[in-house]
Amino acid sequence: MQNLPLLEIAQQYGTPIYVYDGEKMKENFNRLSNAFSGAKVNFLYACKALTNINILRHFKSLGAGIDAVSIEEVQLALQAGFVPDEIMFTPNCVSFKEIQTAVSFKVKINIDNISVLEHFGHEYGNTYPVCIRINPHILAGGNYHISTGHIDSKFGISIYQLRHVHRVIQSEQIKVSGLHMHTGSDILDADVFLRGADILFDLAKDFKELEFIDFGSGFKVAYKPNDNTTDVDDLGKKLCQRFNEFNQTCGKELQYFFEPGKFLVSEAGYLLVRCNVVKQTTSTVFAGVDSGFNHLIRPMFYNSYHQIKNISNPNGKMRIYTVVGNICETDTFGWDRKLNEVHEGDVLAILNAGAYGYMMASNYNSRPRPAEVFVNNGKFDLIRRRETLEDLLRGQVVVD
Ligand SMILES: *Cc1c(COP(=O)(O)O)cnc(C)c1O
Repeated sequence: MQNLPLLEIAQQYGTPIYVYDGEKMKENFNRLSNAFSGAKVNFLYACKALTNINILRHFKSLGAGIDAVSIEEVQLALQAGFVPDEIMFTPNCVSFKEIQTAVSFKVKINIDNISVLEHFGHEYGNTYPVCIRINPHILAGGNYHISTGHIDSKFGISIYQLRHVHRVIQSEQIKVSGLHMHTGSDILDADVFLRGADILFDLAKDFKELEFIDFGSGFKVAYKPNDNTTDVDDLGKKLCQRFNEFNQTCGKELQYFFEPGKFLVSEAGYLLVRCNVVKQTTSTVFAGVDSGFNHLIRPMFYNSYHQIKNISNPNGKMRIYTVVGNICETDTFGWDRKLNEVHEGDVLAILNAGAYGYMMASNYNSRPRPAEVFVNNGKFDLIRRRETLEDLLRGQVVVD
């Protein structure tokens, strides 16, 4: 953070503004690559975390592929220069038409429902290989909203339905080239991945045409100083060993994928906001800023913790503030935070805002969405301009 010209960016382009650190993304990507260098492992950037085309191009240059959850994300990835084979389309509850469009783009397709598998087989038979998303029913992840592997989850085809899956595959002659699981976010425990691997390996024996196994994501990042994170080096060592063992037992060079989103971009992003008012009430000192949950919804939606720093007064004495936004309902970025003394006009940086920040931003309260800036190779560029009133009206149809 010290090496980023955050104040200069806030001065030049105004606030609120998202700033992304390309070097940090690269560092995170390399950390994963090194951790898994013991086997043939590829990383598909789960781009729903942050899809600005410049970020996609950055990950292309680093050697990542893409995990896309909508046909629009597939199209953005293609526009960013990814070739179809580098793109995995992992939709949930989309229309069959969207899957047909994905076929026309020739990307990898991940199917997570038996009726869709049937329909797909009926339409394409053995002419288009598919990946099957399995729900291994491992309860994992930071909280219920971001956990996808549990019994009530809408994701994936249950491991208990595998006999049915094999019937469909056989009768429609479907070529299954991949198996996939993604059990949720913020998984701390390497054992969860190892258990998942055991389950998929066990199933993999019955898919003769298998070429790859995709273990999804779930790598946890630190939100607070000294927070526990997924120990990727330990995980990489253990999993690579299993991968290689499995390749030996099945006599094939299977490829392995992971789909990190948050791990690659969360820590690389900052939301810079300006303090409009310092408001002392009977119980609290509020720092009221020029943004809100319309721009970063995670604290209100997931109860996520984001560090906040006063970058205008880094040496000021520490005082306690509750940092709130300007949206007209409860809109808190952080309760009882120790910040260097805040004056009206100071710029505050909200950390860990790279993933699911801008992407979940809205125009609630009819506020324009922020600008985005990308810092890389010692320079910074505006990569999305701030919205205006015109943008809010765009698409609206006035009737007489
Ligand atoms: C959201 C998602 C990911 C990324 O999850 P993170 O917690 O951001 O790493 C990976 N795979 C799939 C299928 C997803 O839906």
